[in-house]
Amino acid sequence: MLNYDLIVIGFGKAGKTLAAKMNAAGKKVAVIERSKAMYGGTCINIACIPTKTMIVAAEKGWSFDDTMKERGVVTGRLNAKNYKMLADNGVDVIDAEAHFVIYRFESINSIINLEISLF
Ligand SMILES: Cc1cc2nc3c(=O)[nH]c(=O)nc-3n(C[C@H](O)[C@H](O)[C@H](O)COP(=O)(O)OP(=O)(O)OC[C@H]3O[C@@H](n4cnc5c(N)ncnc54)[C@H](O)[C@@H]3O)c2cc1C
Repeated sequence: MLNYDLIVIGFGKAGKTLAAKMNAAGKKVAVIERSKAMYGGTCINIACIPTKTMIVAAEKGWSFDDTMKERGVVTGRLNAKNYKMLADNGVDVIDAEAHFVIYRFESINSIINLEISLF
């Protein structure tokens, strides 16, 4: 059985920020992400960054093919950078879709243990 101080579901803006901070504070952290194409989350892979890249390309008069190529280069670079930011610093990045199966709370001397099964 794996034990973590924190398991984050989703490698998005929220999850990666929390994971990095807790990891830097010495906690054992895992991030579960269902798609490798989404390392770093919605913003860098399919939302803020790709849309802005396309707007800038359109302003420059680029062709659609060149625009899409540039979009892929920019998001690919950020996706890889985000992965390294967590994985190279000791956060376990688990490629899986997380589901809560069972959970159990236990409170001993004010310390709350939460046991969760994931598949
Ligand atoms: C078109 C568009 C443009 C935008 N532009 C901007 C902008 O310019 N500036 C700005 O500040 N914001 C912008 N946003 C908003 C921004 O993208 C979101 O605020 C931000 O992504 C939210 O971060 P998050 O961590 O909550 O979720 P997300 O970044 O969506 O991350 C959630 C992650 O969880 C994963 N996940 C979900 N369920 C599971 C599961 N069960 N198991 C494993 N993994 C799971 C998903 O695959 C995803 O990677 C834009 C959004 C859109 C759609």
